[in-house]
Amino acid sequence: MPFTLANVHGRAALVDADQRYDLERATSGQFSSDPMEAIARFSELGEVAKRLSPAQADGPIAAEVLDPPVPDPRKVFGIGLNYRDHAAESGSEPPEVPVVFTKYPSCINAPTGEIELRSQTSDYEAELVVVIGALTRDITRDRAWSHIAGLTCGQDISDRVLQKAATPPQFSLGKSRDTYGPIGPVLVSVDSFNDPADLAISCAINAEQRQNARTSQMIYDIPFLVSYLSKILTLEPGDLIFTGTPAGVGFPDERWLKPGDEIRTEIEGIGVMSNRCT
Ligand code: ZN
Repeated sequence: MPFTLANVHGRAALVDADQRYDLERATSGQFSSDPMEAIARFSELGEVAKRLSPAQADGPIAAEVLDPPVPDPRKVFGIGLNYRDHAAESGSEPPEVPVVFTKYPSCINAPTGEIELRSQTSDYEAELVVVIGALTRDITRDRAWSHIAGLTCGQDISDRVLQKAATPPQFSLGKSRDTYGPIGPVLVSVDSFNDPADLAISCAINAEQRQNARTSQMIYDIPFLVSYLSKILTLEPGDLIFTGTPAGVGFPDERWLKPGDEIRTEIEGIGVMSNRCT
């Protein structure tokens, strides 16, 4: 059953009809306030959401400054070159196996968090982010969706010089500067979408559209990625997979992020993240 989960000042909240419901209060303590516990028990959240009545609402969600819907993931994967048009603009052939790197979890930032630019060569990458909801090991592609708590938006902010500084290149540090991983605004359950594998994704910088694609254009789709990773290591509730970015990033034309820039990231059925650069 569908649900939408938010993190309101560190507390898990369900969202329905633009109203928020504190999860611990709405369940009389059957859930704690911890968003990570809510994610690990995602299969129960649809039932809770179904029983909510507007009289219990804690107020409009739009009035709150949200924290990241997954505040404390143990693992954060990034997938490189997962859209053909982005591989082409990067001067790369589509990969023959998934290109996987780490964003260290300390880079996770709020959906309206400021991006603290620490280099002259930082770039944006709008991405769909998969949130794992269950212990997942050696899973087949056809069962992968059932282990996913939901989907959210992400920005895989990348320091391009640092990303390629070493020989051979090791992407992880260039993808992991403090604040370089905003996610949100909310986590939306898989069954909330007509087709969770085909969502419009876009990114604008200062209201100028730079990226505009559909997630169905991924080279390695979500079931493949979850299955592939689960055959290498055990995925755990709250683990994140940034699934790659479509064409339109800044580096081919050296359109780097500058202080004051506003990064707007939108995915159909999830919502909008807005992050200002400082
Ligand atoms: Zn990326």
